[in-house]
Formats: sequence, structure tokens, C-alpha cells
Amino acid sequence: MKSVHPVERTVDVLVVGGGPAGLAAAARLAAAGAGRVEVLERERAAGGVPRHCARGGFGGLTGPAFARRAVRAAVRAGAVLRTGVSATGWAGPLALEVTAPTGLERITARAVVLATGARERPRSARLVPGSRPAGVLSTGELQQSVELFGLRRERIGRRAVVVGSDPIARHAVRTLRRAGVPVAAVVADRPYGPRLPGPVLRGATVLELVGRGRLSGVLVRGADGRTGLLRCDTVVFTGDWLPDHELARSGGVPLDPATRGPSVDGGLRTLVPGVFAAGNLLRGVEPGTVAAAEGRAVADAVLAHLAGAPWPAPGLTLETAGALRRLTPGRLHPAGPAPTLLLRPEVRLVRPILMVRQDARLLYERRLPVLLEPHRSLRHPAVWAPDADAAGGPVVVTLTP
Ligand SMILES: Cc1cc2nc3c(=O)[nH]c(=O)nc-3n(C[C@H](O)[C@H](O)[C@H](O)COP(=O)(O)OP(=O)(O)OC[C@H]3O[C@@H](n4cnc5c(N)ncnc54)[C@H](O)[C@@H]3O)c2cc1C
Repeated sequence: MKSVHPVERTVDVLVVGGGPAGLAAAARLAAAGAGRVEVLERERAAGGVPRHCARGGFGGLTGPAFARRAVRAAVRAGAVLRTGVSATGWAGPLALEVTAPTGLERITARAVVLATGARERPRSARLVPGSRPAGVLSTGELQQSVELFGLRRERIGRRAVVVGSDPIARHAVRTLRRAGVPVAAVVADRPYGPRLPGPVLRGATVLELVGRGRLSGVLVRGADGRTGLLRCDTVVFTGDWLPDHELARSGGVPLDPATRGPSVDGGLRTLVPGVFAAGNLLRGVEPGTVAAAEGRAVADAVLAHLAGAPWPAPGLTLETAGALRRLTPGRLHPAGPAPTLLLRPEVRLVRPILMVRQDARLLYERRLPVLLEPHRSLRHPAVWAPDADAAGGPVVVTLTP
């Protein structure tokens, strides 16, 4: 019988989220002898998003193989992996309310790592009008349908339209095709972008979802301004990802206004002592290998914390300007190690200028010999960090064409 009184438990490190970031953190922590390292994963199986990416490229592996390898590494290192277990809220600064199949628990830890990933923005938030017919899916819902029903065309649809400009649209097209569902078109709002399986309508916008009961078509305005109806019974919206930050927010962990993920420094420390964050929770989707690398990096900072390193002051805030959409981490300590920043532009930029200013001072300016795309981040070592004034104002990072 399930207990209604929470079972009180204590661990050394509690990792929330068993995706690539959480599993990589847990593997390194357990291998380094951090004590009891427990990973909570709300799904039936750990591994995170890659579990559903049968055709993805994850450092030479398929998504499921990448997920299995990450699970194996964490378990072999001695981490305790608990599936079907959700962290639902906070009972104190380093104590989480947890719902497990056996009942409620209250787990207190010496350090908490939040690695809850990202989720797709719902259609309502994308302001697409229409009468909410059936047949409107996100990438995640498409993946879940495939997982639940297998590649059965009758459960997914007979003719689909995919909306999105980044590589995740490619995943959706491949999944639909494997399910035997023809794709009428990919509607890509940007006039440029990665290669997508055709036909692709670049620079086009979805005006309305048409249909009562079931979707019967998507009204689209093309790059030439003309409108037309694409007949379909399924539309998959892809690529509009937000950090899954509800748990962080409910614990009073301050968010970065540009990324909507927890505000972190180079050690992936949040502004709440003892609470760390890693992976897509920080800013939305990056490749799985990036999330796993952040998991390993956060483990090093957790180990220092467990060894008694003082929690640093907030440090300097990094702000975005010009065509720079987001950057992580969003805080730095000039006296500490210079972090490598992940910069994501708003638009395509050919050989852009990267400029870093603090107050009236120019800290760095360089034309980058690269093509930047809005679906891909640039890694930039913040070599200028030691020149920033720890007592000065925010550091403003700008990308301009
Ligand atoms: C459609 C798609 C295709 C992709 N293809 C590729 C690719 O080909 N190659 C590549 O390198 N990358 C790809 N990626 C990106 C890659 O999957 C992600 O970068 C990676 O999964 C991020 O890892 P994460 O651990 O941060 O988050 P996630 O993988 O999202 O894992 C977070 C985990 O936390 C769990 N969780 C959340 N909240 C709670 C809670 N309160 N309690 C307990 N558990 C919780 C979730 O269930 C989830 O399992 C793709 C992403 C998508 C969406």
C-alpha cells in the first residue's frame, strides 16, 4: 500500500533528470566517490530524448545506443538510477518532494543537479489560429505515438505537413516516412537553413490550421506572398524548444532572461547555493554530446562543492545584444577560469563581428571567419574574461553582420 506520509531520505547528490546531462553527471560523480548519487527519472526508462531518436547522429551512435551507453556508464560507476520517479517540488533549499511508485518521499541532498531538459512550446504559444482539430502534433507527440503504437500509419495520419526550419524538422520527416505517412511539404519560416527532405517551402508561414474534428489542411503564405492550402490530416510543429524550468522556478532558482533556463556561471552553479544545472534545461536544444559534456563539467563543480569550496558570489552578468539570441553560461567570475561560451545567433551571419563591452570599455572585438546559422551554436572561449572588472556593470556580448 502507498504511504501518504513522505518517507524522509538523505543522499549526497540528487540528480533530477536521467537524460544525457544527468547521466553523465551521475557517472562522473559516482566514479569519483561522491557518496550516494541518485538519479530520478520520471519516464519508465532513463536515457532522455535520444531514446526516441532512432536515426539520430549522436557521436557516431544512434540515439537509443547513445542512451543505453549513458545508462550503463552511470550504473557501472555506482549511481542509483530510479525510473518512474518524479521530483514535484521543494521541501527546503536542498530537499525535494518526490513521487515514486512506492509513494511520496522527501529527499535531502548535499548537492542537487537539475537536468530536466527542454520541452516544446505548445501551439497556443505560437499563435497559430484554427479550431484545434485533431492531428496537430509536436515532435515529442509524434515520437510518443510511434513509441506507443509503433510505425502504424493509421494511428498517425495519411498525409502530413511538417513546420520548422532546423534539423529537428528532418527527424520528423524521417519518422513520418518510416511510418509510411507521405509528407506533403516542410514549411520552413526562414529563407535559408539546413538541408531538409523536400519538398520544402522556404520563407513560408502557417496562417491557419483548417478542419473540424480532424485537420483537413494548413493554410500557408509563401515567400512570394501568395497563399495556398496544403491538404493534410497531420501537421507536426518542430523546433520551438523551451527549457523545462518549472521545478527550478518553483524552488526559487533565478532564471536567465535570454535563455529562460537557470542563470549559471562557468561551474554551472545556479544562484542558489548547492543547486547546479546542466544540459538542455540551460537554454533549449543543443546536441546530445554537448549536454553530456555539461554533465561531466557540472560533476567537477559538484565535487569541489562537496569538498568544501565556498559558493562564489553571483559574478558578472553576461547580456546579449545585436543578432546574438542567447549565450550560456550567462555569468562569469573574472578571477576564475575563463569559461567557453555557447553563442546562438538569431539569424544567419556571414563572417560576423563579435564584440564584448563592459560599461564604456571594449574588452574584445574580432571578425569571426565563419558562417553562423540560427540552428547551430558557436563555441567561444572567453579569453577576454580576466580583463573584465569584477566590480563593473554587466558585460554585453554583441554579434553584428
Ligand atoms: C527530435 C530531436 C532530435 C534530436 N536529434 C539529435 C541528434 O541526432 N544528435 C544529437 O547529438 N542530439 C540530438 N538531439 C538533442 C539531444 O537529444 C539533447 O541535446 C539531449 O537529449 C539533452 O539532454 P538533457 O539530459 O539535457 O535532456 P533530456 O534528454 O531531455 O533529458 C531530461 C530528462 O529529465 C527527465 N525529467 C524532467 N523533469 C523531471 C522531473 N521533475 N523528475 C524526474 N525526471 C524529470 C525527463 O523525463 C528526461 O528524461 C535531438 C533532440 C530532439 C528533440
